Amino acid sequence: EFTDALAMFRASVAGRPDTVAVKYFDGVLTLRDLDELSDAFAVALQANGFGRGDRIALYLQNVPQFVIALLAAWKAGGIVVPVNPMSKQRELSYLLADSGATVLLCLEGLYSAVARDVVADTDVRFVVTTSELAYQSRDDERVFKGIERTRHEGTSDFVELIDAHSGGRPEPVSYDVDDVAFLTYTSGTTGTPKGAMNTHGNVTYNAQVYRDWCRLGPDDTVLGVAPLFHITGLIAHIAVSLLIPAPLVLAYRFEPGVVLDAIREHRTTFTVGAITVFIALSNTPGVTRADLASLRTVYSGGAPIAPSTARSFQDSFGIYVHNVYGLTETTSPSHLVPPRVAAPVDPASGALSVGVPAPGTMVRIQDDNGNDLPAGEIGEIVTSGPQVVLGYWNKPDETAHALPGRQLRTGDVGYMDADGWFYIVDRKKDLINASGYKVWPREVEDVLYEHPAVREAAVIGVPDEYRGETVKAFVSLKPGTTATPDDLIAHCKERLAAYKYPRGVQLIDELPKTVTGKILRRELRKRSG
Ligand code: ATP
Repeated sequence: EFTDALAMFRASVAGRPDTVAVKYFDGVLTLRDLDELSDAFAVALQANGFGRGDRIALYLQNVPQFVIALLAAWKAGGIVVPVNPMSKQRELSYLLADSGATVLLCLEGLYSAVARDVVADTDVRFVVTTSELAYQSRDDERVFKGIERTRHEGTSDFVELIDAHSGGRPEPVSYDVDDVAFLTYTSGTTGTPKGAMNTHGNVTYNAQVYRDWCRLGPDDTVLGVAPLFHITGLIAHIAVSLLIPAPLVLAYRFEPGVVLDAIREHRTTFTVGAITVFIALSNTPGVTRADLASLRTVYSGGAPIAPSTARSFQDSFGIYVHNVYGLTETTSPSHLVPPRVAAPVDPASGALSVGVPAPGTMVRIQDDNGNDLPAGEIGEIVTSGPQVVLGYWNKPDETAHALPGRQLRTGDVGYMDADGWFYIVDRKKDLINASGYKVWPREVEDVLYEHPAVREAAVIGVPDEYRGETVKAFVSLKPGTTATPDDLIAHCKERLAAYKYPRGVQLIDELPKTVTGKILRRELRKRSG
């Protein structure tokens, strides 16, 4: 239906200009507001030399300016480079240098704390700062004037720029399916971040997959729990809400109490986030089944779901968390569990299925020599389809290696059962080799999650003199419960083969995670010395 993300937005504005597009605390922006504000910012960008193929870095939390700036960048012909707001100077300068961004839009606080000392050494020549308070209210006084601003030399203010160019119209641009919409940098749980080139075709395709698969319509309200800088937020929050069209509820960043209030107030119906987000919501003091009752369609992606976690969420809240699998390189989903269907749990491996491939997606399971394997056999997941990225920005070697012929070698190990359901065994690189026996962390984690006291668990391999590597678990406990490392080891020993159960369990308050909710095994490896 759509091949370019801007055309998708324009169709929504033309059809339903008064539909609420973004809700941010008391602030409300309609599609028409978004259109006008992004027109003005696009003109400001063009006036500052930003044009076709240029990159703008968005160094923002989940604020309405993200959506306005993204549309403006596309209207001006540019490419959006979202930057994790938790990035420090080293990470920000890497992304700016690698992407060659010439414009930076950032939160005021991030400018003084991080960006100011970095931009001079990059190609950035136009810096725009913005307050997190802008657009939190519909009251113009608060949007435009009443907020305290820290002015920095050599920067422009977002709202003032828009004010100055209000009523302006950028030159029309159009896109092909293979024009790049975003450079999304892989989150860096492994290696150096690479800029995945998500095209307009990728973005519109996956927005339409969510809409059609979940039958989303204007009566829906999208809850933004994933960070907008990550592919999940870009697709499942921004692109989906602009396409349906329906309101997108933003809450600056994921703070369980604040998000819970937003669900209660806006009766949000659809969301996609990491399972750790749903675990955090369900552990928020005072949360009831009624609070979450409006959430009709909930997907969890980005990390495995332990079957026992899915069950307990359903028992406590009546919500079935659907699994969705994808990577930055598949522009978010490539496999989903159909709505209102419970995914099977493989009795042999204990894994919960990630679903079936999205329409039009070809998935192979291959051995190390690139041979296709039959159903039931474990190998690397290789995906091709309309959601697979063009490649990595300025990285022809990495592109040729991971994306030969635009087929993505995911680095994930999995299999398909006889009925066509897919299962992720684990990431290739997380394999633990204990005395030559292969142990996949996910299987051990699933067993740990069955213990009533376990809130979160992560398993890694640690060096061992005799076995080469041995299994170690990091566990955080549910509030008000007690369990000793020995209890947890005994629990696993009863349920797993001798080479699989953890020889050590370390209890910690909070497992280290990325902002996208992924547990950072790399960090745990460091901690175990
Ligand atoms: P980097 O590539 O730098 O390590 P990252 O892998 O965290 O970053 P993403 O693209 O966000 O970047 O994550 C994709 C990975 O997340 C997949 O390769 C897979 O290992 C994991 N994943 C995603 N969805 C699921 C799921 N439903 N079940 C299990 N694992 C999942």
